[in-house]
Amino acid sequence: MAREDNSGPEYDAIETHGELIRWSRAYCARAVSEYGFDVELARVEWEVSTRSKRRAAAVKTPQLEDASVGEPRDWSERPSNGVATDGVPSCTMSLSWRAFDKFGRDEWTETLRHELVHVEQFQTFGTTDHGPAFRRRANSVDAPVHVRRFTDPKYVLSCTDCGDDVAYRYRTCKLVRQSSAYRSSCCGAALTCRRPAEEE
Ligand SMILES: [Zn+2]
Ligand SMILES: [Zn+2]
Repeated sequence: MAREDNSGPEYDAIETHGELIRWSRAYCARAVSEYGFDVELARVEWEVSTRSKRRAAAVKTPQLEDASVGEPRDWSERPSNGVATDGVPSCTMSLSWRAFDKFGRDEWTETLRHELVHVEQFQTFGTTDHGPAFRRRANSVDAPVHVRRFTDPKYVLSCTDCGDDVAYRYRTCKLVRQSSAYRSSCCGAALTCRRPAEEE
């Protein structure tokens, strides 16, 4: 079996969504063995969200009937409606680019471990929450019970071609002062800078 030792750049050198996913997935694979998570990473999909709210990351799961934390689920069992399931259903680890931009490596890996507890609960029970079992588990893997919400950036830079938000800055810097001199990585177009506080 091919070993995946090509985990991409160092944390501080991550520049693209693909690199952030590769790095985070490789970290989670290490964390699963280091901390003994009972998680099937092959059943986890990954995405990077650029427009997400203030949450640093989130696990998106299907909503299952009759699932509750504390009641292990037998994924091989055929549900009463007869639709066969193929083992553990997949869930999606959604990473916030803005949070990554703001967090250092330690806070990012704590965030990933917090989300791994959610994945572990979902894969075990079919649902997940922030209840007492979650708190105990989070403590045992050095993860925060609540991931820090991050503050709104002072400046948002977006691509003048496709309109996507491409960067966030928390203080005035060269990129903010001379945004039109920079080019977006998506379209190679000039950037435009706005202050989100002025949007509403
Ligand atoms: Zn959570
Ligand atoms: Zn663009």
